[in-house]
Amino acid sequence: MIPFYVALFLFFAALVSRPTWADDLVFENAHIADPETKTVKEGSLVVKNGRITQVGGKTPAGLKSKKMDATGLWIIPGLVDTHDHSTLNNPGPNGVVDRLTTEDVMKMMLYCGVTSFLDLFADEKAIFKARNLQRQKLTLGSTLYAAGPMMTCQNGHGTEFDIPTRTMDSPDEARRQVDLLAQQKPDVVKIAYDHSEEAPAMSKATMTALIAEAKKLKLKTIVHIGTWQDASDAIDAGATVVTHFGQGEMPDELAAKFRGRGVWEIPTMTYQSDLLYLVENRSLLRSPLLLPLISKKLLAAYQNIEVNDSFVAKILARQNKSRDTYLGAVKKLSDAGVPLMVGTDSGDLGVFHGFSVHREMAIFVRAGLTPWQALAAGSTMPKKFLNLKSGIAVGDKADFIVVKGSPVADIENTQNIETVVQNGKMVDRPALLKFKPIQE
Ligand SMILES: [Zn+2]
Repeated sequence: MIPFYVALFLFFAALVSRPTWADDLVFENAHIADPETKTVKEGSLVVKNGRITQVGGKTPAGLKSKKMDATGLWIIPGLVDTHDHSTLNNPGPNGVVDRLTTEDVMKMMLYCGVTSFLDLFADEKAIFKARNLQRQKLTLGSTLYAAGPMMTCQNGHGTEFDIPTRTMDSPDEARRQVDLLAQQKPDVVKIAYDHSEEAPAMSKATMTALIAEAKKLKLKTIVHIGTWQDASDAIDAGATVVTHFGQGEMPDELAAKFRGRGVWEIPTMTYQSDLLYLVENRSLLRSPLLLPLISKKLLAAYQNIEVNDSFVAKILARQNKSRDTYLGAVKKLSDAGVPLMVGTDSGDLGVFHGFSVHREMAIFVRAGLTPWQALAAGSTMPKKFLNLKSGIAVGDKADFIVVKGSPVADIENTQNIETVVQNGKMVDRPALLKFKPIQE
């Protein structure tokens, strides 16, 4: 006979080891759109033990999984934001701010079908702690990846936010700082190399040493730039990704240089232009996807935005000046075969955590990309970049969204989310809305 305490132990062990995805899933009669192959398959999407086991065709006979009828619905891979600042809140006009925690942002992202996101600058102590807690399955929401600090020079871009960061002014110091940062296991290294502002910028030699050291440690680098020359220098130095654009028309030879050196780009078009789109078309604020995520006060501040307010006017003037050339740069890079990734730079005016991922894809289409290309930039490309084996291909960890209407015919249909599946499980979306932004 088994002693009572052993029996008790076995009982709880059985409870713990029971697969958490007891409810395997099948979505039947679906359109399953894979941006990687640009193909649509019809039929059943089968999820077993958290993974995709079948894409299209008939549901295998005798399958006891939970079956969902997805007639008229489309399934696409979970989305990814590769340029977020989860500690910078949702700021609005007139000093109105929805104050958010990183945990709030994780929930907002997942609510919007963004199953993973990359924070590109925060207090490294706080952000790595949040990331590590989530990896221990202690936090609900979109899966957080993080760069930690902005690697910058003394008084350079990134030092103006009252967020602790890392500064370096020589190649030796750059190598030392990368080595120290590497101990925190950052998912990427974020570097500010920006000669567009009056603030000092890192020297090319320091940036080059920094990138070389990161490479040695097998860390990918994302370089924030402010001029096209900055982009060219970052490519010379061996950067993995460039984020933002330079000013004015992008030189033709630069697109070829990106392509030749295999460098990727995160344009952050919502940050560069969405306040302007929003002022031109205030119905953007009525999106049913956005409304449950923001406070009434923030919504009202945007609805009543004063275009003559000096702070707002300055941003609108900048966006007015650069919008068309930036749309042209997105198209030029895409035509040259440069991999593009969706990144919103959320934490800035006119941009909203989670929701703006859908806007970024819509703006890519406005730039002349096909919806397939925009969907790839918002899902399969960043997954490849972050080495995530998740999505809707056979063998993938099941991370996908179910939407009403074809996102291939109209990219805005990505906003009509019916269901989100993360790690093979149906997400309880209403539960994700149980957070309260603190308003100011
Ligand atoms: Zn940024």
